[in-house]
Amino acid sequence: MAAPRLHVPLALHEGLECELPDGAARHVQVLRLQPGDALTLFDGRGGEWAAEVTAMGRREVTVRIGDFADVSRELPLALTLAVGMPANERMDALVEKACELGVAAIQPLLCERSVLRLSGERAQKKVAHWQAVAVAACEQSGRTRVPVIAPVCALPDWLAALPAAAAQESRLLLSLRDAAPLRSARAGAVLSLSGPEGGLTDAEEDGARRAGFAPVSLGARTLRADTAPLALLAHLALSPQGSS
Ligand code: SAH
Repeated sequence: MAAPRLHVPLALHEGLECELPDGAARHVQVLRLQPGDALTLFDGRGGEWAAEVTAMGRREVTVRIGDFADVSRELPLALTLAVGMPANERMDALVEKACELGVAAIQPLLCERSVLRLSGERAQKKVAHWQAVAVAACEQSGRTRVPVIAPVCALPDWLAALPAAAAQESRLLLSLRDAAPLRSARAGAVLSLSGPEGGLTDAEEDGARRAGFAPVSLGARTLRADTAPLALLAHLALSPQGSS
């Protein structure tokens, strides 16, 4: 069996002997690892470390950090998905799949026609949950950086706070309204905006266009709120300039 691969939110370095934080320790306990067993750990700053369990307590797990491997399984393209949050488990699935495919960050948005209406403490709890889904997807898929799930924001507030687009950034609005076909992958950074189940209103689309989002079409079929951003991500990630 390959060594279990775990994210550890600590600054790791060779020779360090430390207790694993709660989440990772629980994982190791569930796997019933023993002193001497091997692990692969990453801290989200890039690369990963070989590690060995040195002690198992009732809850605590102590590990020694070994060799560093300077691997990267990240996309050369930084793609941020700003999405009208789909309801139920669809957002969980969207976060998981987007992390596997290499997304750089996800911005959950509250839109006029959103079914999922989150705010305050409930929104914070959901974001923490999605962040944990992102960590698990990175552990599983071999990623060395964990995408940030940004706090839930209302679409107009988010658009108003967006800085001017950087030279290397393209902004895409996934739109069913007179949109141009998606062209080949581009270098640098991509920020995409897509709507919730009920779509974006005309006023929301117009606001996005004013903020520099170019409308693009993903084809003649109406895709679900979770499918559309994943289709864009897969396209950009797997076409020659985006893939690695
Ligand atoms: N009932 C809504 C459908 C919304 S689909 C309507 O008729 O407007 C959810 C979101 O996915 C849309 O807001 C859009 O951002 C994106 N989307 C779905 N299909 C798409 C396509 N073929 N091309 C581009 N974007 C699409």
